[in-house]
Amino acid sequence: MQLLNGNEVAKTLKANIKLEVEQLKIAGKKVPHLAAILVGVDGASMTYVNAKEKDCREVGFDSTILRFDMSITEEELLKEVEKINNDTNIDGLIVQLPLPKHISEKKVTETISYKKDVDGFHPMNVGLMFKGLPCFLPATPFGIIKLLEHYNIETSGKNCVVIGRSDIVGKPMGALMLQKNCTVTVCHSKTKDLNSFTQKADIVIAALGIPEFLKADMIKEGAVVIDVGITRVDDTTSVKGYVLKGDVKFDEVSQKASWITPVPGGVGPMTRIGLMLNTLEAVKMKTILNPMVDRSIVK
Ligand code: NAP
Repeated sequence: MQLLNGNEVAKTLKANIKLEVEQLKIAGKKVPHLAAILVGVDGASMTYVNAKEKDCREVGFDSTILRFDMSITEEELLKEVEKINNDTNIDGLIVQLPLPKHISEKKVTETISYKKDVDGFHPMNVGLMFKGLPCFLPATPFGIIKLLEHYNIETSGKNCVVIGRSDIVGKPMGALMLQKNCTVTVCHSKTKDLNSFTQKADIVIAALGIPEFLKADMIKEGAVVIDVGITRVDDTTSVKGYVLKGDVKFDEVSQKASWITPVPGGVGPMTRIGLMLNTLEAVKMKTILNPMVDRSIVK
């Protein structure tokens, strides 16, 4: 078994992004500026937003975090999004999910200008992605594609099973693997006899959010296993009071897999790279006055 080391790959790609930012500066061009909206004080959301701010600092991007109280109304939040849409100094905007129940995530996501939608959630970007056209790809599937490419994992003609069909991971992941010439099966909670699919898969991408769901007997010998899941599981022996668990039972699946991502240190850092690459692209789009630069992943 070999590790698909997201931390290491992210380090390399970050260094490349930093170089590109320096070149933009030398050319007198604008430095990418990412804005993040954070509503409330959810621990995991705060951790994610702070990590993204740290990434921005490291690669030389400008960043702004707009923090709002849980009591902000939907109307007020939509106005804030519009303000950023019209702010020519900001190139990319993300709204950290989940939002409080009284605010529609759909409305907020769809209010972000698709040209600043570096999370790739806007229906415009989703449609362009499904057509294989230039767009902002959703950060997690984008990061996973970059990870597979970095390790030269063959995808053409391979059977790929994605477990999970969410809008932000499962569905786009399936679409991108199809573009990478895999034969794709997307499974979900209503799938009957899931094992019969996973056991035939050359590549299994687990994105369901159930800790240690994928066991060794569910995969074939030599499969490539990508673990997207991150769940905080209570653990009184840990200083933080919890440990992070993936969707894959790593100790046993790693004995059988040819390649596998760890949790943490696999998909997580690559998701953040996806976001950084999109933000960089947002500036380049402006620089070359092209509404959508070529982001087709098909080689
Ligand atoms: P989600 O919206 O809750 O979707 C979960 C999907 O899993 C659904 O499509 C669901 O099916 C399916 N599912 C649930 N139970 C199943 C079962 N027993 N068998 C087969 N399919 C099942 O979750 P998500 O947002 O996609 O996230 C999934 C996991 O990835 C979470 O742990 C999340 O924290 C993590 N995540 C990690 C990153 C990262 O950067 N590493 C990024 C995003 C998400 P139905 O559609 O039928 O309900």
